[in-house]
Amino acid sequence: MKINSNFNNLKPSYLFRDIAQKTAAYKASHPDADIIKMGIGDVTLPLCQAAVTAMENAAREMGVKETFHGYPEAYGEDFLLLAIQDYYKREMGVTVDTNEICVTSGAKEDVANILDIFSTDNTVLIPDPVYPVYYDTNVMDGRKIKFISSNESNSFLPLPDESMSGDIIYLCSPNNPTGAAYTREQLKAWVNFALSHNAVILYDAAYEIFVSEKSCPRSIFEIEGARKCAIEFCSFSKTAGFTGTRCGYTVIPAELIFENTSLLSLWKRRQSTKFNGVAYIIQRGAAAVLTEEGIKQVRQNIDYYRTNTANMMKTFDKLNIKYYGGKNSPYIWLKCPNDMKSWDFFDLLLTKCNVVGTPGEGFGVNGEGYFRLSGFGDIDRTREALHRIETLLG
Ligand code: PLP
Repeated sequence: MKINSNFNNLKPSYLFRDIAQKTAAYKASHPDADIIKMGIGDVTLPLCQAAVTAMENAAREMGVKETFHGYPEAYGEDFLLLAIQDYYKREMGVTVDTNEICVTSGAKEDVANILDIFSTDNTVLIPDPVYPVYYDTNVMDGRKIKFISSNESNSFLPLPDESMSGDIIYLCSPNNPTGAAYTREQLKAWVNFALSHNAVILYDAAYEIFVSEKSCPRSIFEIEGARKCAIEFCSFSKTAGFTGTRCGYTVIPAELIFENTSLLSLWKRRQSTKFNGVAYIIQRGAAAVLTEEGIKQVRQNIDYYRTNTANMMKTFDKLNIKYYGGKNSPYIWLKCPNDMKSWDFFDLLLTKCNVVGTPGEGFGVNGEGYFRLSGFGDIDRTREALHRIETLLG
């Protein structure tokens, strides 16, 4: 027996372990320190009432013989597929067929699992800095990886140019970790590039609900031509606090044909072979989120998180610290003051302000010198953290 030796090429994933270890060590030597964590990418507000009620009702159905459900449909129950279709139409003006939507346990799984349908001979283009899953999953498969440099000179929104070549292109907008969001024109440039290079775009829209500027699309399918070159990944995690309940969906347009083969049919074949569907109770909760009432309720939570990012932006504007994100994203990506390195700034905030953030270096070479703060925390605690930072750096 031989193992998949590609795993030997993975870099150890130390980022969140190191943050936790450094924080714990500081707390051990300063037991009175009131540490505020602003590094987390997890949500903190509870599920909206519409989802809770729907899941309670669904749980009761499961306890009655006449309404009990066994295995769910492999690609999602009709009621949820219709709710997703309606959400696209209502919120983004995008038409998708219910047949093109596949409901899953979340976007992390999907961006990883989709690779099953692509040859390992493909070359992938991955932005740096990046959500590490795109990189690691391709290393596991042994694909050739080329980085797209995302940096200050392109405002962390890299665009294609003719020096680039690749078969699979990862785009995440609004971006984790940088918070930057592509405009329609910028995304159109990527769609044109993919079409002319016979490439496929894997578009991660996990943070689409945070888009507030009209110039930024929430779905790549708002862009003409995208149905011929893009797959979109969405999630209820950040939209509706489903990080602990797990539900997402992937949209693969019927027009995506490569080597005379439909990518949708490959994905469905993959899913029906390796996945047995999302729990009925969870799908009922997800469908309730997408009703007009559900979206109204989750938007209250999004507005709460937005207050945090707005407060961060105000503080960093005042401090004259350069940052990206915030407007269309729960993340602020700030340039460490005085050209500090990411981990040095981490240590400074931990020891002088008792505030924990995420060093940008952990997301790629171009993240060095940057720092990610999250808006998913408590409003008062975030205000307190910002007050401490302002006192230190002001
Ligand atoms: N995509 C991006 C860019 C993310 O930041 C995350 C989670 O942090 C995910 C996907 C994972 O989403 P899910 O919870 O649906 O797996």
